[in-house]
Amino acid sequence: MYDYLIVGAGLFGSVFAAEAVKNGKKVLVVDRRPNIAGNVYTENIEGIQVHKYGAHIFHTNDKRVWSYVNSFAEFNRFTNSPVANYKGELYSLPFNMYTFNKMWGVVTPEEAAAKIEEQRREAGITEPKNLEEQAISLVGTDIYEKLIKGYTEKQWGRPCTELPAFIIRRLPVRYTFDNNYFNALYQGIPIGGYTKMVSHMLEGAEVRLSCDYLKMKDELDSLADKVIYTGPIDEYFGYSLGCLEYRSVRFETEVLDKPNFQGNAAVNYTDRETPWTRIIEHKWFEFGKDEAGNDLPKTVISREYSSEWKVGDEPYYPVNDEKNGALYQEYRKLADREKKVIFGGRLGEYKYYDMDKVIASALDVSARELG
Ligand code: UDP
Repeated sequence: MYDYLIVGAGLFGSVFAAEAVKNGKKVLVVDRRPNIAGNVYTENIEGIQVHKYGAHIFHTNDKRVWSYVNSFAEFNRFTNSPVANYKGELYSLPFNMYTFNKMWGVVTPEEAAAKIEEQRREAGITEPKNLEEQAISLVGTDIYEKLIKGYTEKQWGRPCTELPAFIIRRLPVRYTFDNNYFNALYQGIPIGGYTKMVSHMLEGAEVRLSCDYLKMKDELDSLADKVIYTGPIDEYFGYSLGCLEYRSVRFETEVLDKPNFQGNAAVNYTDRETPWTRIIEHKWFEFGKDEAGNDLPKTVISREYSSEWKVGDEPYYPVNDEKNGALYQEYRKLADREKKVIFGGRLGEYKYYDMDKVIASALDVSARELG
């Protein structure tokens, strides 16, 4: 009845759906949530697009992906420049000349580099083996202690010495006064929200929401020639080899009767004691204005709390350490035997994917599959 059954209406599934429909295929998309768009889902509250599953700022260096998303939405010129709050001291992120000046009083890039080099030498790190060593060798011990250690241990629930170094390499270190968090040529937020963008991707596909694939697998499988599965790979196999670890996130969202709570979209609380990792003030993704350009009198904020995932929670971040990497490879072998199924996306591939990388991957997979 359908050429493709797509499990999950997030970015991977929706891009695949758009490509399949473009190629004249009949597509059914199911999602167990009552809404489309997976974790990029946005909802309008008080005229503000609220990122219900955490802040998503689109950024990419891939021109193909940038043109692709722009064919489904118009993007604004938002540039992510979070602020770090360490016990009331405010620092610019990512680590740049403003951060170094505030931390040490240094004024020139040479002075900043010398300070970092001095701290790196004192720590005696030559080849960083974990996140802590990588962080100290990039920015020195002071920044590590105040801006990285507490935040990272809250976010990941593990000591920095047990986390992979690559996580911290996501953040740029700049010897310039550039507060742009991303090294990306293209950046912005879809005007009108991600949900609207994803709904355009899904045009021409049949979508069934609140439909739990794994609970009615046989029935749904019988409807289509092939399945694109974007849910957790371990859940697909009934956790038969054990659970992969994820970090989950909980949000406490509040509408405040004031126009400006923190003056920025993201403020990270980098000390260990504050229980939340960051506060998002959603209106600043849209410059505090509604779609018609009017100033908004209220504001919506979300405090973000990180926790270890357990069965039944929403999985957010794969914990890409060695142990989980090895278990994923075992699941991968099982997945390769499922000839009718393609596994894709953050949960299907157990990968800490950025949005642009998920889209690139879905475009590659669909090009191979659809010819
Ligand atoms: N990080 C940090 N301090 C900050 C922000 C980030 O130490 O104020 C570290 C932390 O380990 C985090 C990693 O940098 O896991 C990557 O941060 P990013 O902002 O890329 O994470 P995401 O937005 O995907 O949650």
